[in-house]
Amino acid sequence: MSAVASLRQEFPLLAAASDLHYLDSAATSQIHRRALDAVVRHETGSRANVSRGTHRLAEAADRAYEHARLSAARFLNAASPAEIVFTSGATASLNLVAHAFGSTLRAGDRVVISVAEHHSNFVPWQQLRERTGIELALIPVTDSGELDLSCLSGLIGSTCRLVAVTQCSNVTGAWTDVAAIVAAACKVGARVLLDGAQAVQHGPQDVQALGVDFYAFSGHKCFGPGGIGVLWGRENLLTALPPFMSGGGMVGEVTPEATTWAAPPRRFEAGTPPIAQAVGLAAALEWMMGLDWVRIHARENDLCQQLIGGLLRIPGLRLLGPVSGRRASIVSFDIPGLHPHDICQVLDAHRLALRGGHHCAQPLMAAFGVEACTRASIALYNDTADIAALLDGLGVVLRELT
Ligand code: PLP
Repeated sequence: MSAVASLRQEFPLLAAASDLHYLDSAATSQIHRRALDAVVRHETGSRANVSRGTHRLAEAADRAYEHARLSAARFLNAASPAEIVFTSGATASLNLVAHAFGSTLRAGDRVVISVAEHHSNFVPWQQLRERTGIELALIPVTDSGELDLSCLSGLIGSTCRLVAVTQCSNVTGAWTDVAAIVAAACKVGARVLLDGAQAVQHGPQDVQALGVDFYAFSGHKCFGPGGIGVLWGRENLLTALPPFMSGGGMVGEVTPEATTWAAPPRRFEAGTPPIAQAVGLAAALEWMMGLDWVRIHARENDLCQQLIGGLLRIPGLRLLGPVSGRRASIVSFDIPGLHPHDICQVLDAHRLALRGGHHCAQPLMAAFGVEACTRASIALYNDTADIAALLDGLGVVLRELT
């Protein structure tokens, strides 16, 4: 059995569906068996609420939850587990920053995002603009959908307080030049929020080396369970921010007159957190931290180039993203005259799971001049058979739909 074939067996859904070509990991990756087992073990052996109980089960749940925080801190190379806030996903993490950090901004302060953002890092800032009168500026994209950093010095000026950008586009697969953004933000004392939703699937991250201030991701995109995400923030910044949501677990003291806040991360974890999901996420992250990412990247890149090469031989097909360079294995394309939903439906009949639509990136679709596109996303459990099946499947699409 090849290395990838045996890796595939570690994912219960893929192990049970040997004929499935799953090429939609940018939407949701498949869950690793260790993550699933950890959830089941927790729910059947240690299920209790956290930070409230004194019985043994509650203490076990507390230990498991705080251990999960440590794993997430290690995965991101955070300076301290206190910098890890568990949320329900990247969207919740990004909204948390837009509300908590956003509440420190005033009319005329500038937030810079990009045309390539997922709606979850776009709409919260538009809403903040409506609430407070901040100025929202957009980094444009090049013809291949990469952030056009030639405009950076004009956009990130003295009124800029925050730059919030994706680390890797969920449409084009292009990696952002984070160092250039951090350098420009540093010059004017602005903070940087990185949306790592598409990056974490491709290996552990180092927020200290990246030099950013906030980092958001979801567990379901890095082989963990759904309903869990992380917001990482520098401890001094989190300590200075007010809570976003309020309720149990995030307070210091509540009196009829006023409430004081707990220190981060609890301040940002109102209510019962997703405990079993955090435990499952930790198992996925621990597993990922033991992998050889240099080899995995080389394989993902080979498959990506094999796919791009095949796509470019299809007459009229337009690749929406860079052909090569610093790109992840996410490949989007448009075939004029064919709707992505129709393409995906025909492919589905051949056991190919791809995503067709606007990918929650309508400003980027508009920049490309399309309403929607078809996306194949390649993860560590894909192999050449998946790419060959997709290229064959597109042959069928062309025969059946044109
Ligand atoms: N940011 C990017 C780049 C994404 O691709 C996604 C989801 O596809 C999100 C944010 C939102 O993630 P979630 O829906 O898990 O909150």
